[in-house]
Amino acid sequence: MRLVFLGPPGVGKGTHADLLAKNLKVKHYSTGDIFREILNESSPLSKKLEKYVNSGELVPDEIVFETVKKALSNGKSEKGWLLDGYPRNKNQAELLDTFLENRGEELDFAVYLYASPEVLIKRLTNRRVCSDCGAIYNLINNPSRIEGVCDRCGGAVIQREDDRIEIIKRRISIFEEEFRPLEEYYKSKDILLGVSAEGDLENIAGKIEKGLKVG
Ligand code: AMP
Repeated sequence: MRLVFLGPPGVGKGTHADLLAKNLKVKHYSTGDIFREILNESSPLSKKLEKYVNSGELVPDEIVFETVKKALSNGKSEKGWLLDGYPRNKNQAELLDTFLENRGEELDFAVYLYASPEVLIKRLTNRRVCSDCGAIYNLINNPSRIEGVCDRCGGAVIQREDDRIEIIKRRISIFEEEFRPLEEYYKSKDILLGVSAEGDLENIAGKIEKGLKVG
């Protein structure tokens, strides 16, 4: 199964993509995670990316698409893959479709997770991540057992640079500007699956699986 996960920042794309990828036994690629890994090392590309990622602006489409192509070319697996954080606009969606068409493949679903801005802001301001393995925590309902230390790998648990309130608001507004054309694009292909991502984690995961008919 080949899937993309769409939705505003903080809606839980990473968490649900991770859960579903484990269940389906497919690869999970997150463009945000790939960029953060690149930023951890000093290189000409990391210098270029830094100003976009840390300020919450979109990285130019050509750079993102190169990253996606590289990931998907490494992971050409029979079972498929799951892409989270890509596409962020209609142009990116079209680039992906052309790439897939050339490989004789197509997307099965675009999963759209949504929640109110209040819920998103609350989640993002309380989100913490492991700077080593990328594990996601939340100060309110899922803190690490020892403050600042990752349960999974012992790495440092930190607040993302772009999870500060003024940058969060900018990221949500960029999402709102770009999303409608993307929504129309996938609706017209009849592969959009919208799921409310407010409430209990298991319940949301169940709704996604039911919609995809894999639960
Ligand atoms: P995320 O972890 O998905 O919130 O992504 C973090 C940051 O990486 C975003 O705010 C953008 O700067 C950049 N980014 C990730 N995916 C994309 C994409 N598909 N297009 C443009 N920029 C992206």
